[in-house]
Amino acid sequence: MSFPFNRVFLEALRDVDFMALITLAQASATLEQFIFEQVLTPASLCQFLRENQSAFQLYQLRHRWLFTAREASYLRRLYEKYRILHGETFYEESVGVLGLLLAQTPREGFEKNFITPFTLSVPRFHKYGRVPRWEFFDLDDIRLEYWKTLRFSWLHRPNVDTMEFAWHPIYWFQRKMSSEYLRDPDFLFCKPYIDDLHACAAVMDISEGNLGAARGEGLLSVVERIRASKLKEIFRKACIRAILTHELTAYRPVWQTVSSDTFKNLFALPGWIDMWTKSELGWICAIGLTQYGGETVEPLLQQSFDNNREALIWLFLGAHHWTKDPQDPEGTNTPLPRTPDAVDEDGEIIHHGSCCGNMVWGFQEDFLTNTLGSLSQADRLWIMRKIVSLAPEFGVCADLGCNIFNYFVLGCGPDESDTMFSALLDSIIGSTLQYIFEYAISHAISLAEENGGLKCVALTSARKYSGRVDRKNLALYRLVSL
Ligand SMILES: [Zn+2]
Repeated sequence: MSFPFNRVFLEALRDVDFMALITLAQASATLEQFIFEQVLTPASLCQFLRENQSAFQLYQLRHRWLFTAREASYLRRLYEKYRILHGETFYEESVGVLGLLLAQTPREGFEKNFITPFTLSVPRFHKYGRVPRWEFFDLDDIRLEYWKTLRFSWLHRPNVDTMEFAWHPIYWFQRKMSSEYLRDPDFLFCKPYIDDLHACAAVMDISEGNLGAARGEGLLSVVERIRASKLKEIFRKACIRAILTHELTAYRPVWQTVSSDTFKNLFALPGWIDMWTKSELGWICAIGLTQYGGETVEPLLQQSFDNNREALIWLFLGAHHWTKDPQDPEGTNTPLPRTPDAVDEDGEIIHHGSCCGNMVWGFQEDFLTNTLGSLSQADRLWIMRKIVSLAPEFGVCADLGCNIFNYFVLGCGPDESDTMFSALLDSIIGSTLQYIFEYAISHAISLAEENGGLKCVALTSARKYSGRVDRKNLALYRLVSL
């Protein structure tokens, strides 16, 4: 059965509201077959997931899902159809966004129906090849290990902390006995994906001793070792990002073990700039800017980006740790442990829990203030709007809205603040990340209130957005509805 005229309409719907099209496909088996086979393609599914990859992650950090459970089940259904049709080729094409679907799949989706719990004896190998120690692994232990692996998309937030040592029992279990636990190793490519993550752990070799090897000058040789590994490119890059995050993020300046020269030498490695996308370069340079300041990073930005406007967009999208505590801008107090998100009586999260809130210092301020100050208002408006529009795909930090407010609104003169604030509200309202932005901007407003910094913000036209602000319990709403 064909729908020659409907096809045009359905393709238009795909481009403006992908999720509405998938939902429509559930109306009948014939319609689903037509939409899944004639209107959608593996590339369009991957593109949709990629355009929302950061939004998914940021919502998850705030204990919410970007997709409803029903929407996630439709996406899985479509993904599974392409998996069966295209096999390994589709895994290669989609693995960068697969973690999102795996993260929002209930645990029962992966595991067999267990009538009786079981306990197994599994070996914990020793790094230096001594006789393994056998340990008991029960069903809850196994569930916990698989949950730890699948609950976040590691490729979007690569880190060494969630990786076990490569000789942990779960690696042996996954290799030898995963069929005892996994209902279907092909389901959402869960087994190949976990195997690939385990291969990353083996290549990074994150034992205490070996992580020490990545400190100081050693960082370069560890990075080169990973670059020479046989991992798929996307996993290789994620491993390097995990190591760089771990080694370069010092929560106090005196704890930094990698010199600014070593950081600069990364960019002198053959093929270094060509192996990264602009967003990845922005992320790497943002760490460098925070840890070493503008003097170190400016030449690297010139190598990596066409101009300052482009550099600023990708720096803001890639940066963590740019939200400072005005009471302690130099980070002289002991860094506080991360505080959990507080929840109000409606279950809304209101407190500044953390994406990365416990690093209170950073050297980015002068560079950002001077560079933004050298640009015209039109340029700053353009950059700000661009950052907000690219954030659902590329923004890494839940505090991004806070950083935009601090530098683009509080950072400009009082005569411009109303224009900048109105443009910021105009671009976040109705966007995928409105909920996250309102939260982060409210945090910036609360910090500025404590610091007396809000006095320089003129509020005239910004007030007209008050009716379209969603979160009535936060500081942003209180400010614009004054
Ligand atoms: Zn962050």
